Amino acid sequence: MASRLISLDRRRLLARALALSAAPTLSRVAAAAAIVNPPALLENEAGGYRILPAGTVFCGGAIPVSGHEIVHALVSPWVPLKDGYGFIQSYLKSIGRPVQALCGMELRSPQQMTFEAFRAFNAPYIEQLTKWDLMLGRYSAVCRTNVVPARDAPKEPSLHAFSYCVPSNYQGITFCISGTADIDQRGKVVAEGDVSPAGMKQRLQYCVDVITERLAELEVLTPLLELEQWQVVEVGFQVGAPFDRTWSCHEESSEPCWACRGCRAREAAFTQSGKADPMRVVRKL
Ligand SMILES: [Zn+2]
Repeated sequence: MASRLISLDRRRLLARALALSAAPTLSRVAAAAAIVNPPALLENEAGGYRILPAGTVFCGGAIPVSGHEIVHALVSPWVPLKDGYGFIQSYLKSIGRPVQALCGMELRSPQQMTFEAFRAFNAPYIEQLTKWDLMLGRYSAVCRTNVVPARDAPKEPSLHAFSYCVPSNYQGITFCISGTADIDQRGKVVAEGDVSPAGMKQRLQYCVDVITERLAELEVLTPLLELEQWQVVEVGFQVGAPFDRTWSCHEESSEPCWACRGCRAREAAFTQSGKADPMRVVRKL
C-alpha cells in the first residue's frame, strides 16, 4: 500500500523538516537576546570547522567545513584531565593535525559541583583553550560535555573522549555538539525540586528542545525525527540505507538480543512496513 510518505520526495521532506526546525531557532534567538546576542556561525580556520558560539566554556556545536570530517576518539582507560591536555596535543601532532583541530571534550567528574566550584574548575580549562588558540574572541571553539557517572565515578576529573577535525572525502554529515543542563535562560533549574514524572518530563523536554534548536542552527537536518519508526524503515529502503549495519539493541553485546525495548521496537517497525530486517538475515537469527 502506498503511504503518504512515499509520495513525499526527498526535497519536500527536507523542506518540511527545515520549516519545523526554523520555529524554535527564532524563539531561542528572541529569548537569548536579552542576555547575550551570539553571532552566527564562526569559523575556526586552522581547525577546519565552524562553531555555533555559546560562551567562554563551551560552544553550542561544531560542523566541519567542506572537505573535512569530525572524528570521535574514545580514551580508554580515562586519563586525568590535567594529563589529558598533553595527551590530546601529542596525539593530534602524531597524526599531523594542529591542536586547533580539537573541537570536542567529554569529561567525567567525581561529584556534582556548586556553581562557584564549577567556575573555579573551568578557569584553568579556559586558560588552556586560550593557550591553544581555541578561543574565537570570547567564545570557546570547543564543544564540551561534563558528566558525573552514578556508578564508577573517577577519583578526579578525567578525559573520557575528544573530537577533532581532519581533511576527508567523506560525504556524510559529521558534527559535534555540547551537552546541556536542565537550566533555563535565566539560570534557573527547570521544574526545580519536582521529581514527579511530570517534572522529570518537563526537564527532559527542555533539554531535547535546546539540542534540537542547536542542530537547526548548525544546519544539521533531522527530517526523520517527525516520522514514525515504520516510516523510517520505508524511507531507508527508498534510499538504500544499509540496515544490516544499523543498531537498535539497548544491551551491551556484540549481537542484538531481540528482546529489549529497542529490539522489539525495531522488529515492530519492520513488521509494520512489511519489510524483512536485513539484520536478521546477516545475523542468522
Ligand atoms: Zn536488544
